[in-house]
Amino acid sequence: MAEAVYPVPAAWAANALVDAARYEALYHRSVTEPEAFWAEMGQRIDWIRPYTTVKQTSFAEADFGIRWYGDGTLNLSANCLDRHLAVRGDSVAILWEPDSPTEPERRITYRQLHEQVCRFANLLKARGVKRGDRVTLYLPMVPEAAVAMLACARIGAIHSIVFAGFSPEALAGRIADCDSAIVVTSDEGLRGGKRVPLKANVDEALTHCSGVETVIVLRRTGAPVAMVAGRDVDWHAGVAAQSADCPAEEMNAEDPLFILYTSGSTGKPKGVLHTTGGYAVWASLTHELVFDYRPGQVYWCAADVGWVTGHSYVVYGPLMNGGTTVMFEGVPNFPDPSRFWQVVDKFQVEIFYGAPTALRALMREGDEWVKQTSRASLRLLGSVGEPINPEAWEWYHKVVGEGRCPIVDTWWQTETGGVMISPLPGATALKPGSATRPMLGVQPMLVDNDGTPIEGPGEGCLVIADSWPGQMRTVWGDHERFFQTYFTTFAGKYFTGDGCRRDADGYYWITGRIDDVINVSGHRMGTAEIESALVAHAKVAEAAVVGMPHEIKGQGIYAYVTTNAGIEPDEALRKELVQWVRHEIGPIATPDVIQFAPGLPKTRSGKIMRRILRKIAENDVSSLGDTSTLADPSVVDNLLANRPHLA
Ligand code: ATP
Ligand code: MG
Repeated sequence: MAEAVYPVPAAWAANALVDAARYEALYHRSVTEPEAFWAEMGQRIDWIRPYTTVKQTSFAEADFGIRWYGDGTLNLSANCLDRHLAVRGDSVAILWEPDSPTEPERRITYRQLHEQVCRFANLLKARGVKRGDRVTLYLPMVPEAAVAMLACARIGAIHSIVFAGFSPEALAGRIADCDSAIVVTSDEGLRGGKRVPLKANVDEALTHCSGVETVIVLRRTGAPVAMVAGRDVDWHAGVAAQSADCPAEEMNAEDPLFILYTSGSTGKPKGVLHTTGGYAVWASLTHELVFDYRPGQVYWCAADVGWVTGHSYVVYGPLMNGGTTVMFEGVPNFPDPSRFWQVVDKFQVEIFYGAPTALRALMREGDEWVKQTSRASLRLLGSVGEPINPEAWEWYHKVVGEGRCPIVDTWWQTETGGVMISPLPGATALKPGSATRPMLGVQPMLVDNDGTPIEGPGEGCLVIADSWPGQMRTVWGDHERFFQTYFTTFAGKYFTGDGCRRDADGYYWITGRIDDVINVSGHRMGTAEIESALVAHAKVAEAAVVGMPHEIKGQGIYAYVTTNAGIEPDEALRKELVQWVRHEIGPIATPDVIQFAPGLPKTRSGKIMRRILRKIAENDVSSLGDTSTLADPSVVDNLLANRPHLA
């Protein structure tokens, strides 16, 4: 297949913060003189006491440690708020769009946000929260979620956000894991017109864990909820009694900022800990460069604050950069599949950043839903969370962006704090399906299973050779697990868990999780490629491919396929798809089994949980492992009930 290449549009090359030549020069300097480079980059944020050390890191067992700007002090909420008051206190920081288009939006200026954060920080203090304490946030996508995050940062408390779609059990596990004495929630959440009983979930969670002394309850829908005297506090009544003045605590660069549990695609979620100084530099720098961001531009990252993307690119990155960040409470297809693009038109959004899972869902509904909106304000599109299939990429580019907007396909992880591999819109020619080139200071390496580096074009395990400022510092409460998980598979390197190919242009192509690589008759294949071929078929909406035991080939190919709206799967389609993949990739990729499924098991962040699909394909269904992060467990029952007979 000929690879499509989209050159940098001339206007972008001329006006972007970073063009191709500047990227090459900056990148070279970032890896040859990291100390000097990061000393300079650190100046982009405000420090209380300037740092004199910059990079003190080692991935080797003997002197393992990760410290950035170690003797500097700062406050992240001051960097997001106070520093902007003089220049842009009255510009809009948060532009909030509710679940329902009939409810009014909210526009919150930097000055208003500053005041709300100070009052809420004082309420936390009044409830006994001190520097270093953990605060669990279980909130819908409302501005108060950002207020609560920034209030924690202001007083040096560590926030742990639990996505508001999680069950009481999952919430209880996370409260207990980080020993949190306070939970912030709302009466109910609203998503896609449905009410989610958040306060009732908290009440139930607290019967499974002990130690929580305060629950702060925001009124979102106004539904009556039980309030426990002495424990439960009404948000608005609570803040009304507080002063609007709250000095920002002087934090060390390496003091913890937040804990966030990974999405659990591959196993039990890990409590990822990020610290303050390096994270601040990394989140603000990557946000500015990847989105070519200038204050005044309306920027929308459609992720929930319950995921790391919401931390770094809805709240911290854009606010450190003095931006206007859109927060959206709802879902892409409510009240109809035009919703995203209607919001783009309403707020004149210039930059839109979303996930492939949402794009594939919208693509499935047809182009009309997009075309009935203008989208003339859009200049740049982004993707995050999973490999984006070339088919979905082309649709995003042609239909949503009308061929005008570059797409930044950003590869990164909860663990990395911010974007690691991505195009810069003014610097990088695009190839659909490739995350392209490394961010400044990032040294990706491919190694084979024995850890031998692969030079030039090739395929292997993706590792990162050296530290970057936004790197996680530990797994909460389990430093040994941190070291074991990330630094022992390939000694001295950070192990990402992802497989990757590098082409002759030095472009990186994420092929999926290492665990998902299958070996058919001695040929190693990334499942992402077969999935992309299936999704490229006109009748297929989504596909997930896993390996299955096969007597002759070692491993066979088991494909789960969801068809487009209105298409009834049948035997003829099954045969057609087998031929299609043979034709698109080659006979080696011929699926042995195709199981049609109305839905695939996904995490609540929308990622396909392949380890469950693998177990079903292996006929090992007695222990499906931790399924607590599944969005809809009933999907699994359907898959189990409809397994095709294996020959
Ligand atoms: P867990 O670590 O608990 O299994 P998770 O890995 O899904 O969960 P995240 O940190 O949210 O949790 O996801 C990071 C992973 O998402 C990456 O390792 C990669 O597999 C995938 N990913 C993210 N962005 C991209 C992208 N642009 N292209 C390809 N893969 C991506
Ligand atoms: Mg992961």
